[in-house]
Amino acid sequence: MRRETRAGARERVDEERDVMTELRPIGQGDWDRFAERYSVPENVRQYMARLFSTLQVRFALAAPDRFGVGETGRVLASLGEDPAGAAEFLRKQYKIGFLDLVDEAQTSWELAGYATFLDVWPVWENEEYRSRFTPEELRDIDWKYFHASFDPRERQAREQGVAPTEDEVYTLQETLDWIDRNGRPAYLSFCDCRSLAGDCGKPRETCISYRDGINTYAHRGWSRRLSVEQTKEAVRKFDRAGLMHTLNGTTICNCCGDCCYLSRGREQLGSGPNWPLAHHVVEYDRERCVGCGLCVRRCWRDVFERTPDRKVSVDATRCVGCGLCANTCPAGALTMAEASYPGLRPEEPDPSRVHSH
Ligand code: SF4
Ligand code: SF4
Ligand code: SF4
Repeated sequence: MRRETRAGARERVDEERDVMTELRPIGQGDWDRFAERYSVPENVRQYMARLFSTLQVRFALAAPDRFGVGETGRVLASLGEDPAGAAEFLRKQYKIGFLDLVDEAQTSWELAGYATFLDVWPVWENEEYRSRFTPEELRDIDWKYFHASFDPRERQAREQGVAPTEDEVYTLQETLDWIDRNGRPAYLSFCDCRSLAGDCGKPRETCISYRDGINTYAHRGWSRRLSVEQTKEAVRKFDRAGLMHTLNGTTICNCCGDCCYLSRGREQLGSGPNWPLAHHVVEYDRERCVGCGLCVRRCWRDVFERTPDRKVSVDATRCVGCGLCANTCPAGALTMAEASYPGLRPEEPDPSRVHSH
């Protein structure tokens, strides 16, 4: 798999940045109108001046609901900008998630809105994004973004027993088998949860998607295409790094309990193995255990605890069947037994998913 250096990634985003660095102040009335038009939630409006450039705000206020290259040129001209730059403006603003495409023919764009913008721009210009806010502010933006996307799903789950998403936890082997069965190339992107939540030290380029239609990371030009074998190798690497695998038919999420919106959603909902739905549970063979403690470090659900006799105690009720512990137990003392959980009813079809890429 081609590795991208940090400097390479930096260069890649530098060329996209010019419109993002223009941060001249604009009037409060314009900010208010922009916030309404761009669906910026009230509780993050204090951050708008550091999230959006003046040109983005002025464009959003002047643009019609939908616009092609011609309308964009006219809007830019009305703002004193060069109308000849319309196509390039659309390309860049689409790429960083400020605009969405409306049609597959790529003739019409619209304002993407805050939720989409925050799902794209901070992921790709992560250093720039992080440089504009204090650690407390970054946590605040992330916290509010998570709750805005998950809380309505949590309410629905509690009131109607509907699963917030279709995601299911797979072991490494199940994931590799699924990739083989699927047999298609995949797209590797940076994880938006980890990009927003902070630097936990785990790899960030870990989100695998099979979607490449308009408004996906792949279509915006950010993803790396992987063959079936490269996809499997990537998943093995993520597993070694302590990242579990959650699938929903179009995405393989490789994450842990730190910042993943699925894991945080599980904690908030208290759904344990019922959502994201697990298919296995860990089993422990005390006789075989050599007390190395690796499982204590690998498990992110605090299932294991060291005991004075140099073994471990196991609280399998906390297990969500990811298999990270059993993969690496050097004594073969851990196995993944098949388990059947009632789960929650599948969600109704909904185009706005927790993870749309
Ligand atoms: S689905 Fe998983 S890997 Fe993808 S962005 Fe969310 S936490 Fe990250
Ligand atoms: S990894 Fe295996 S051998 Fe090591 S403590 Fe855990 S169960 Fe025992
Ligand atoms: S006990 Fe093993 S399978 Fe269960 S959650 Fe922990 S690491 Fe995953």
